[in-house]
Amino acid sequence: MSESPKSALVTGITGQDGCHIAELLHEKGYEVHGLIRGQNNPRKAAVEAEFPFVNLIEGDLTDPAALMRAMDIANPDEVYNLGAISHVGYSFKNPTLTADVTGKGVLNVLEAVRATGRAESTKVYQASTSEMFGGLDYNRPGAGYNEDSLFHPRSPYGVAKLYGHWIAKNYRESYGMFVSCGILFNHEGERRGKEFVTRKITDAVARIHLGLQDHIELGDLWPKRDWGYAGDYVRGMWQMLQHDTADDFVLATGETHSIEEFLQLAFAEIGIDDWRPYVKQNPAFMRPAEVDILLGDPTKAEKVLGWERKVDFPGLVKLMVAHDLEQQRAGLPSA
Ligand code: NDP
Ligand code: GDP
Repeated sequence: MSESPKSALVTGITGQDGCHIAELLHEKGYEVHGLIRGQNNPRKAAVEAEFPFVNLIEGDLTDPAALMRAMDIANPDEVYNLGAISHVGYSFKNPTLTADVTGKGVLNVLEAVRATGRAESTKVYQASTSEMFGGLDYNRPGAGYNEDSLFHPRSPYGVAKLYGHWIAKNYRESYGMFVSCGILFNHEGERRGKEFVTRKITDAVARIHLGLQDHIELGDLWPKRDWGYAGDYVRGMWQMLQHDTADDFVLATGETHSIEEFLQLAFAEIGIDDWRPYVKQNPAFMRPAEVDILLGDPTKAEKVLGWERKVDFPGLVKLMVAHDLEQQRAGLPSA
């Protein structure tokens, strides 16, 4: 007699990581359910077309009753809580919404698992973030932030995520629930939203190459990020939930690069050595408080989970520019 497939519920199914993990879980034979918000979500049709195997369940992270209903429909072995207001700049403009969705939304998910009697049977992955560290000088270890580093978030997003992180740990400690937090450094790719700097750049580079625009407007160019590839990172999320015990893990590359370095590599892909004439600074894209540098130390995930990444920094830039050139050539919309 064959075993019934595992079931997973993914919040944030329309986002970058939601799409990558839907694909991964399907390959592994899971029954995949995705929480989708809004009465007419503009991304619904695209998700249905690309991932016909996903069962979409309507619900919002701010609505506990909807989340309990989603648990009852999906009856998940694993919940991947990826839904969030995830953009730092947007969180400064919408701090209350960010607290409700990115912070309290985590509590709502954990309570929905508990209230529907699944505290002992359902494992939860919480999408924590390197933005919780804040990148300040005194708080920056040479080898990079690890699971024991201090937190000092610098945005409403980072603060809300820190609440999510601690309430997740609290449910692990208080109720013995299997809740693992992945403290993930920036991860990008062909599915990254165009509001984030990497994809904004690769999209513009493709359009500049094809004569569809002549420059790109950006904020500060000196901040440094530890940028990896999203496909590698969702594999790490899944590995965390297959581990014997619930725990916290940093996923990062151990390298940090400035936006200027990203620009250099991206423009080189279209044969332009000097990107400066094509970039204008616009204060609208600067933040009230900046995270200067993020560098992570993934040693624990590599040793304990056997996590490894396949795409390096030049490879990431290359694949994103190639994808955006293809998309622009096909006349697909830029936004
Ligand atoms: P995205 O911004 O691409 O996706 C966010 C998802 O959250 C979307 O599916 C969005 O749905 C959903 N969402 C937003 N508000 C609500 C709500 N009220 N109820 C239900 N769903 C909602 O993020 P990523 O895929 O890049 O990231 C996944 C998670 O990992 C996020 O929690 C993010 O903060 C975290 N993270 C990401 C990192 C990265 O570099 N990508 C780094 C570290 C952590 P809709 O389409 O309807 O807007
Ligand atoms: P974050 O690290 O989660 O904030 O990811 P982002 O991709 O949004 O931003 C990375 C860095 O790029 C931050 O230091 C931003 O201030 C900087 N940046 C500079 N110009 C821009 C821009 O036009 N858009 C975005 N999103 N970020 C920018």
